[in-house]
Amino acid sequence: MKAVQIQEILRELGTRPSKRWGQHFLLSNATAEEIVALGEIQAGETVLEVGPGVGILTAPLLDRTRNLIAVEKDPILAEYLRKRFPQLELLVGDVLRVTLPPYEKVVSNLPFEISSPFLGRLLEVPFKRAVLTLQREFAERVVGEPGTRAYSRLSVKVHYRAEARVRRTIPRSAFWPAPEVDAAVVQIDARDPPFPVDRDAYFRVVDALFLHRRKTALNALRLAAPSLGRPEGAIEEALQGDPLARQRADAMQPEEMAGLTHRLFPSKD
Ligand code: SAM
Repeated sequence: MKAVQIQEILRELGTRPSKRWGQHFLLSNATAEEIVALGEIQAGETVLEVGPGVGILTAPLLDRTRNLIAVEKDPILAEYLRKRFPQLELLVGDVLRVTLPPYEKVVSNLPFEISSPFLGRLLEVPFKRAVLTLQREFAERVVGEPGTRAYSRLSVKVHYRAEARVRRTIPRSAFWPAPEVDAAVVQIDARDPPFPVDRDAYFRVVDALFLHRRKTALNALRLAAPSLGRPEGAIEEALQGDPLARQRADAMQPEEMAGLTHRLFPSKD
């Protein structure tokens, strides 16, 4: 699609791109095809598309599955999509609020504003694969490795539930109107947790470690004692003599963070 074609569609609909709803429309059909191909959609699989816009991903998705559920917040675009794709199961509303039926795959150019809460929700439900176009820096945090600036609590929480990798980057010029940042396509394949640990306790420890990411694990956890619900003294005692406690929080492997969780919350094993 050319920018003028999208402009023409919006003009006919009597609307303009909404900044608030993160409306940046992908211009290249070839890129859309590539993104959809990453989904490796099998016949019969149910696929979710968040924010179809004017349908650049929707069309190639419908070529692969009849079971496509799309959620679009903009009622004007939803009306356009209904006419263009009468076979599409379209939910009009905020994807963070609507009740979603079960799905196996997600392929979406997400509005950057909802990337974080949407990813949080995705990780709470069963799915096989998600192919998401995200703000590039956010994508790097999703796949961040220990010891790098991009390593974050998001990287660790995604790692607990899935294997994630950046498949390609997309320059801002590939969208109209161009956003202020570049984008990247992340492929997230769900899997079982790679080690046994109580999830809630683990996530609390991970949050605490990254809140003070440059400190040693012991100091970070001591500072976060109230949110961990453990007195500082108990934290010191639990970690006494543990070499991990002297490591910097943001250089630790996820499994090591799980080790600290076992030490701090032994009853939850
Ligand atoms: N997928 C289209 C494309 O690639 O050209 C449009 C992508 S645009 C970045 C994001 C789309 O998500 C817009 O159509 C916008 O109206 C829609 N949107 C924004 N917030 C939403 C929300 N909370 N729930 C569902 N759709 C939303």
